[in-house]
Amino acid sequence: MSVIPMVIVSRSAPTETDAVWQGDEMGGSPNRIAVVGASLAGLRAAETLSQRAPEIEVVVIGAEPHRPYDRPPLSKKLLSGEWEPERIQLRPADTFDELDVEWRFGVAATGLELATSGPGGRLDLSDGSSVEAEGIIIATGATPRRLPGQSQYVHVHVLRTLDDAMEIRASLIEGKRRVVVIGAGFIGLEVAAIAKQLNNQVTVIEGAAAPLIRGLGMEMGAAVADVHRSHGVDVRCGVQVEALTATGVQLAGEHLDADLVVVGIGVVPSTQWLEDSGLELRDGIVCDETLLAAPGVYAAGDVARWPNPLFEEEMRVEHWTNAAEQGALAANNLLDVAASEPPVAYGPVPFFWSDQFDQRIQFLGRSSPDDDVVIAAGSVSDGKLLALYGRGGKLHGAFGLNAPRWVMPMRKQLLNQVSLADAVAFAATLG
Ligand code: FAD
Ligand code: NAP
Repeated sequence: MSVIPMVIVSRSAPTETDAVWQGDEMGGSPNRIAVVGASLAGLRAAETLSQRAPEIEVVVIGAEPHRPYDRPPLSKKLLSGEWEPERIQLRPADTFDELDVEWRFGVAATGLELATSGPGGRLDLSDGSSVEAEGIIIATGATPRRLPGQSQYVHVHVLRTLDDAMEIRASLIEGKRRVVVIGAGFIGLEVAAIAKQLNNQVTVIEGAAAPLIRGLGMEMGAAVADVHRSHGVDVRCGVQVEALTATGVQLAGEHLDADLVVVGIGVVPSTQWLEDSGLELRDGIVCDETLLAAPGVYAAGDVARWPNPLFEEEMRVEHWTNAAEQGALAANNLLDVAASEPPVAYGPVPFFWSDQFDQRIQFLGRSSPDDDVVIAAGSVSDGKLLALYGRGGKLHGAFGLNAPRWVMPMRKQLLNQVSLADAVAFAATLG
């Protein structure tokens, strides 16, 4: 992660409340910090708070009944039956119990009232109680989009939680099922790969011209589709779903019979409970470079939208590394500001990976459909390649198919903001 120390950054001119919170006369340590969301970003925040400031009371509020667990295996080794739920705990039971944190599992935050004369505010909870805290870190992640009428069909699923994954796994594990996956994004393609490996008949329906267009662009998205087709998955792009039915999925002029339908059509940030809070919400919680959303209130992970100074772009990232780093950074910044120390801006090179069949996809940086894409090493037919993405002549992203030793050195090139031409020349030296 690239972190840029800076003085306090406010989205607007400092208010009286900012002055009180940041000033010496308030200073000192908060008595209580509340973290909302007990998953990756929330856990990393709680770990940081508990290690750095054991004197502060930390309360973590998590809507799910489970201890924090890792989501990537839900569409990979847990779904395939290779791993059991115990294996995906984000922190083993013994070290989990060591954290001096009050966990409120199975309880959702339903509202936030910001303090008027200091940092933080009051959280209302679904069990009727409330928590007042001088520091709040919001890490409520994202919730799957659903299709109209979806909830009436027991064979139609989304995949976000451990419980979702165990239900889908129970339907897939014996094989010989007709599986339709709607959406060829990350969820759709990873589920399709596992379902096929478990000897099911798998069809993927994607509205766009290729899978993962938003993340990888047309050319690399098409290469990923070919990987799936070569393993026997029926990938249909540019196809719209008309309706879900009791026996499958209705397309224009064709009905696909299905025993199981998995809908993976993206997510929306979990901010509904914040609608009356006064926080700025725009496809996520709008933060400054330091992840500050309001005095004493920070956001982290899938739910946070912030201006990334490295890319000079406001972004919201829905991937693992971002959530882990932001959880820790939000906690550190909250403590630093309370101690009248300058907080740190978050300026990373975004990163994600995806495992599909025996292929490892990795992406560093950003991409958009208008980027110039150059295959800098390898090729689709080699089964290994590095593609570089450029915008305005500058390197903007690096995609690797089974090529970690070509992709990862590109992080430094992205941090150094080199030109696309220089990055291509550098790639030629990687061997
Ligand atoms: P989340 O993990 O979504 O957690 C948010 C938590 O907050 C949830 O437990 C939720 O119940 C809780 N919550 C929501 N609202 C409230 C409320 N009002 N009150 C209290 N609690 C609340 N990324 C990668 O980079 N690589 C991968 O291979 C990869 N695979 C993935 C596979 C799957 C199946 C999924 C779903 C995601 C995958 N990701 C992957 C993405 C990655 O897991 C997420 O980016 C990460 O989990 C985000 O962490 P988070 O803590 O911000 O949010
Ligand atoms: P996603 O990656 O955003 O992909 C959603 C896909 O569904 C897109 O291709 C989208 O196309 C398509 N789509 C949208 N509406 C549709 C419709 N009505 N019919 C057919 N297709 C439609 O989201 P996801 O795959 O659902 O994943 C959910 C979340 O989990 C994301 O945050 C993702 O990052 C995360 N996740 C990450 C990984 C990983 O990093 N390896 C793995 C699994 C999950 P358009 O783009 O054209 O709208």
